[in-house]
Amino acid sequence: MTVLRSGSASDVGLVRSSNQDLALETTSLFAVADGMGGHAGGEVASRLAIDALATAFGRQPTGTGLASAVVVANTAVWQRSQQSAELRGMGTTLTAVALVDEAGHDVLALVNVGDSRSYRFHDGELTQVTSDHSLAEEMVQTGELTPAEAMVHPHRHILTRALGVSPEVDVDLWRIRPTRGDRFLLCSDGLTNELGDRQIVEILGATSDPQEAADLLIRAARTHGGSDNITAVVVDVVIGEEDSGSTPAVAVVTPDFLPVPVEGDETPAVDRAPLPVPEARVPTRREARKAKRRERRRRRGRRLITYRTFLFIIVFVAIVGGVLYAVRWYDTNSYFVALDADGTNNGNELLIYQGRVGGLLWYHPRLVERTGMTINDVEAPYNLKVEAGVQKSSLADAQAYVKGLQEAYYADNTPTATLPPPPTTTSTAVPGASSTTTTSTTVKGTG
Ligand code: MN
Repeated sequence: MTVLRSGSASDVGLVRSSNQDLALETTSLFAVADGMGGHAGGEVASRLAIDALATAFGRQPTGTGLASAVVVANTAVWQRSQQSAELRGMGTTLTAVALVDEAGHDVLALVNVGDSRSYRFHDGELTQVTSDHSLAEEMVQTGELTPAEAMVHPHRHILTRALGVSPEVDVDLWRIRPTRGDRFLLCSDGLTNELGDRQIVEILGATSDPQEAADLLIRAARTHGGSDNITAVVVDVVIGEEDSGSTPAVAVVTPDFLPVPVEGDETPAVDRAPLPVPEARVPTRREARKAKRRERRRRRGRRLITYRTFLFIIVFVAIVGGVLYAVRWYDTNSYFVALDADGTNNGNELLIYQGRVGGLLWYHPRLVERTGMTINDVEAPYNLKVEAGVQKSSLADAQAYVKGLQEAYYADNTPTATLPPPPTTTSTAVPGASSTTTTSTTVKGTG
């Protein structure tokens, strides 16, 4: 007979605005899901996965049944994600442990998809049962990274497996003989990213109350930064199966679990007591090849998405940059003649501005040159045009326009005796600067 005691806690952390983690704690089934996908997606995915897992496991409470329940959960999340654009791409991690009866023996079945983790803690020793389905962990497996490097690797959050992101899922399954004093910890990466093994060991060893242990773990992760949602479920084996003398441990590892028919699917591995020593089923060469191909396809798919997103950002930034540049170019290559474009230069003097009449987006006209000529000297109908603002494409054009107005005025006002020479406008202004010397003589016309 096996008696379990458990506690759990989940916290949004100090950075995230919503908690997309979800813990499940029943008398015989315990799980942690860490949802992902923008807006509501992550929360929906973890909720759907946990609900589907609990329901499906209830129908078939065996080790294989637990793994099948994960497949059912995958289908539930996948189908829901296909029904609405908002939820497309959502997914979740899922790790679960269940107390099941197999061939008259109590067995703890343990499953995992993603990078949430399940640990076994016994006699002060912490053993990670699950292995992360992340790019960093795969690089550790192939020797490209050391475990220490993987802890800080930029790809440590990229999952190679997740629940609900495709119609099919591979589930890792373990069977463990429960022993008195065993303590299992299920947690999301929000805990393991903040706390090292030593800190987890310290906390798990500090209290015999599983609820208190879960609370302490959350508090410690918050203290260390709490940059993600944090979830922990602690399950204690208060009374275990009678000791068989051998060290209970991982009995069966099924790296590529495929759902099996419900009838007569009890795995022979647990029929034998005591349980065999840790022994992974060695995949046949064909299976290994198939698995490798699948993994390659999966990785290619993931990379493609990453590159596509990257490319999209580059193109988007280029377009926005181009538009901003064009607007600026258009603005700086525009000049106009007006009286008082922005209301800050009083009077009826003709002024030359750089920019567009009335401004362009956030660019306001800049005063470039004072002409010394007043609106009274401008002949109709040009006076009306100048009042509205006359747009020119260069400073020279604007200056030429003013000169034309001045010449028109003098042409019409010459006949009288001593006439002053036409004004010479000497401009030392460099386009864009506003220091200008303009000398002009204004002659009041008489008719
Ligand atoms: Mn997380």
